[in-house]
Amino acid sequence: MVKKEISIAFEDFGSLEELNSSDQELCKEAVKALANSHSPYSNFKVGAAVRLASGKIVYGSNQENVAYPSGLCAERVALFAIGANYPDDQIVSIAITAQTNEFELLKPTTPCGSCLQVMAEYEMKQEHHFEVLLYCIDGAIWKTKGVSSFLPFMFFEERLRG
Ligand SMILES: [Zn+2]
Repeated sequence: MVKKEISIAFEDFGSLEELNSSDQELCKEAVKALANSHSPYSNFKVGAAVRLASGKIVYGSNQENVAYPSGLCAERVALFAIGANYPDDQIVSIAITAQTNEFELLKPTTPCGSCLQVMAEYEMKQEHHFEVLLYCIDGAIWKTKGVSSFLPFMFFEERLRG
């Protein structure tokens, strides 16, 4: 038996002002995306803004449904829209934020496992990492280069690609 250990690295910023202007802007775009969240069941809004190499910003927000499993997270709404509409435009960075009136959010909201898996696959598809910014409104920002920091054991089976 060999005991192994994986460590992850991320940057922890205290406020938006500590970020470079491009990252600041993308976090603010993620806040704008909250406006189109359809979340009457959880009252938990999530917004995502994705910057593409062309400069285009693509938005996503969580979309819930009364048939509960039918909804989708903000991150996947944005990434699937990119896959469908701008498949050749490289993803540079994604900013994710959340907002609720139910309780106070004290730290950045992290993506769910399914969204991390999808993010990891898009990184592999474009053969390039993208930056992930997790923004707690009026609070901290956690930043990583690449999704593998969050999901080192992502599911991937090379033989499925044929
Ligand atoms: Zn998710």
